[in-house]
Amino acid sequence: MPPSLTTNELLELDRNHLWHPYSSMLHPDTVYPVSSADGHTITLEGGERLIDGMSSWWSAIHGYNVSEINRALEEQISQFSHVMFGGLTHRPAVELARRLLELTPPLLQHIFLADSGSISIEVALKMALQYWIAVEQPAKREIAVLQGGYHGDTFATMALADPENGMHTLFHHHLTPHHFIPRPATPFNHEWDDEAITPLQNTLEQHHTTLAALILEPVVQGAGGMYFYHPQYLQRARQLCDQYQVLLIADEIATGFGRTGELFACDHASITPDILCLGKALTGGTLSLAATMTSHTIASAISEYKTGTLMHGPTFMGNPLACSAANASIDLLCSRPWQSAVKQIEQELQQGLAPCSELNSVKEVRVLGAIGVVEMHKAVDLRVIQPLLVKQGIWVRPFGSLIYLMPSYVITTEALQRLTRGVVAVISSLASE
Ligand SMILES: *Cc1c(COP(=O)(O)O)cnc(C)c1O
Repeated sequence: MPPSLTTNELLELDRNHLWHPYSSMLHPDTVYPVSSADGHTITLEGGERLIDGMSSWWSAIHGYNVSEINRALEEQISQFSHVMFGGLTHRPAVELARRLLELTPPLLQHIFLADSGSISIEVALKMALQYWIAVEQPAKREIAVLQGGYHGDTFATMALADPENGMHTLFHHHLTPHHFIPRPATPFNHEWDDEAITPLQNTLEQHHTTLAALILEPVVQGAGGMYFYHPQYLQRARQLCDQYQVLLIADEIATGFGRTGELFACDHASITPDILCLGKALTGGTLSLAATMTSHTIASAISEYKTGTLMHGPTFMGNPLACSAANASIDLLCSRPWQSAVKQIEQELQQGLAPCSELNSVKEVRVLGAIGVVEMHKAVDLRVIQPLLVKQGIWVRPFGSLIYLMPSYVITTEALQRLTRGVVAVISSLASE
């Protein structure tokens, strides 16, 4: 075994050899070496303790180092870590199916356990396309999608991202063009204006004979801009999709498992999508796992068609460790009063971030469930703001013009206050420069 690295050696090797998300190999951002994470605290190798405001991108809803999830993983690891899902099955996967069936709308009966969020979206697209082939309407093979959305980084999912962003420019020769619909114009807390549905209505009216599906992130558009829109939009979208025979795919990879104040964001509008994608918080932030759920109508049509199979099957499909973590995380969520915890976080975020709306550099502060967003007028310079946030003892990772908090549901009032005060202090100090 090579001798263990000093922190400086580690950082140098990292800088020279490891890609981080959306990173440069020549001018990499500073990265901070983590030695441990527990509850709402991330500890760095130098001993600094940071209050976590990110839940590692929506996922660590119970905080870190959760004994119930650790125990489930240890028990499973002592049995087996993985077996192929082709021709074999196991209790962790079936137990997860049982839980997902219980939590989601009764219409969603069939589950594909994918290995990441992006892949679950790819599977959803395949399901929709295979369905229309199976029912002998192969002309229905185009996709409608909301602008400002984010559905992943693979080629099919990248094509669903807002065409204004850089990936479309770079890869446009390889991306399927889709029908982009302006994002819903009525924000979450405003009075519903039925005009907001007109762009979708027009697209479906004009193109329904060639449209397979509409895909959207219900209520909260995440990485595409942290925008919250009116749930009535979902109800209208559901009606229109039924009317024009277009499948509705709900991407709840970010919103699922309580983040918006409802267990699933579709619950704000009491709608059932034809296909539902879950990920991120599914395993409580421990391992990569996602699920694509669909109705018996769709699953049986695909299965009755001549090929008779859904054309997907990744190597690590239904990974038993990830499924065990998911089972433990779901049990933990259901055994706790998460709804009142999220409600309280919502109120504390509103109060704590309110001072930001007084600042000239801030465009808007918006809060929904355990998500608090400060949108700036201009994009922030990560190289300037990141060290200032760390100096406040908080882990917050802005992108573009958005500084946002999505803490775990177990964060204490005191820790949340340190998070919001830290954000207010850093934004104020930038504004006064
Ligand atoms: C993160 C995310 C994805 C992609 O999931 P990965 O696990 O990163 O592939 C897809 N859709 C939404 C809404 C997401 O937030």
